[in-house]
Amino acid sequence: MSDSNASLPIIDNPGVNRRRFLKTAGATLGLAAWAAAMKPLLDLTPEVNADEFLQKHYRELTPEQKAVVFKRLEEEAKAEYDVDVTISDPPPMENVLFGYALNLSVCIGCRKCAEACHIENNHDRASNNSYICVFEMEKGGIDFEKGNATYDHPVPAPGKYYMPVQCQQCENAPCVTACPIEATWKEKDGIVVVDYNWCIGCRYCEAACPYHARRFNWEKPEIPAEEVNPDQSYLSNRIRPQGVMEKCTFCLHRTREGRLPACLEACPTGARVFGNLLDPDSEIRWVIENKRTFVLKEELGTKPRFFYYFDE
Ligand code: SF4
Ligand code: SF4
Repeated sequence: MSDSNASLPIIDNPGVNRRRFLKTAGATLGLAAWAAAMKPLLDLTPEVNADEFLQKHYRELTPEQKAVVFKRLEEEAKAEYDVDVTISDPPPMENVLFGYALNLSVCIGCRKCAEACHIENNHDRASNNSYICVFEMEKGGIDFEKGNATYDHPVPAPGKYYMPVQCQQCENAPCVTACPIEATWKEKDGIVVVDYNWCIGCRYCEAACPYHARRFNWEKPEIPAEEVNPDQSYLSNRIRPQGVMEKCTFCLHRTREGRLPACLEACPTGARVFGNLLDPDSEIRWVIENKRTFVLKEELGTKPRFFYYFDE
């Protein structure tokens, strides 16, 4: 579980300070003058890529600039992880608003979804990171804050049920409004994304998220070359740099191309339902219209697009 209840972060990492300073400076100086002014600093810090600092916000990149950035990232993956990856950039589809539902009556708490997320999204092996946290809950309660995320015994256990929690892709996303530099935003299909090359790692979004759904890269991710998922996208499962925030994207590199999220495919019990909320014939719409669904922490007004239900 994340430590998002910790006090607000102090930006005391020299790399983070430099990143913020450079981006602020870049916004006020001409590009060429800024690059020239920064050259001595960049020369002093060989781990810093000048192109990365010069890179614009994702939403300001032209298709040609994106191609250059993606090529650079592919080369970096080859150099750092010895693997040939492809960085894509699938856009939101027209008339699609993604939603997810989870049947708590059939989830058995096996954590296969969390494991699939770990592999699909190129998470750090050392920390065993995943965007999904499965809580073991006492029957009768629905407050996941009272659940146990570290259970270690055969499942399902008597008297318990299981509640997987991941990003709720909130319509009113407090993480988005908390970000001081617009490094995170909501896309047209409802998926909240992060530009990992724009994020300064201040962790305000993590503190603002009521669902503990954001993850911070404390270390450079460790992934053996043979385990890297080479099918990557800029806004989702590419290997994130150290010192930036990340989160579930409903596997947008899959779902925007008509596939299902990896967590859903891995679920052995069929507990998970994913689809287009705008399609009246979709299974997710059927669930919402025929089951008594609820959302977590409804009272906060975040309007999650992740729904839970029990069989009657
Ligand atoms: S669950 Fe958290 S990270 Fe996801 S959109 Fe809502 S506030 Fe943001
Ligand atoms: S894989 Fe399915 S059954 Fe297992 S914990 Fe995840 S949602 Fe529950």
